Amino acid sequence: MEILDAIPIHLDTEQVLKELHLNERRDQFDVVHKLVESANSIVHPKAIYEMSYVDNKNEDTVDIGGIRFTSRVLRVNLDKVGKVFPFIITIGKELEDRIASFDNLLEQYYLDEIGNVALGLIGNYLKEHLEREYRMGQTSSMYPGMGDLQDWPITQQTQLFSLFGNVEALIGVKLTPSLLMIPRKSESGIYFPTEVKFTSCQICSRERCKERQAPYDEDLAESYRSK
Ligand code: SF4
Repeated sequence: MEILDAIPIHLDTEQVLKELHLNERRDQFDVVHKLVESANSIVHPKAIYEMSYVDNKNEDTVDIGGIRFTSRVLRVNLDKVGKVFPFIITIGKELEDRIASFDNLLEQYYLDEIGNVALGLIGNYLKEHLEREYRMGQTSSMYPGMGDLQDWPITQQTQLFSLFGNVEALIGVKLTPSLLMIPRKSESGIYFPTEVKFTSCQICSRERCKERQAPYDEDLAESYRSK
């Protein structure tokens, strides 16, 4: 098991303005810049991951690190894969504490979105770290409960967390009985090597999702049902 607790991310005001669709609103630059600078000093990025072996592939289940996961899409994506990297990442609790201390709703919203950008940067850092350290080539990732997929339910967060033991003691992320991660700006999933780039968005038909990374592909979604 590996813990990364000195992840060097840096939030950039222009990037945050773009994510917030505020590139044209120069009047918001100063307020966003101040929040970005503040976030840069209080975000504490951490990641934990484990190189795990894939075993016992069945129709809708696959064992990872000796733990059974139920997901046909995951099983299909891992059909030719022997090693994967379950992970949990977080920006830490300090930014959420800061959000709670604000009574300005707009600033709360901006800082919340800045937290999402920070989490994305941590995810990118971990992906590049794994590709470099383990010579993985191209990777893709999946997350329990992602999108409108009933395929890999959010309840399987419990199995994912069980691969690491006491995650709260290790990197400060707690899984509540209602399967919420605390701090909220945390993410758990599995990175795996892949020849063809995969994102859950390709098989998620949810409309008007501002996080969508790829168009819905009905044929691809159907192909997972028949494999
Ligand atoms: S489109 Fe992508 S980001 Fe949006 S809910 Fe579906 S899987 Fe998630």
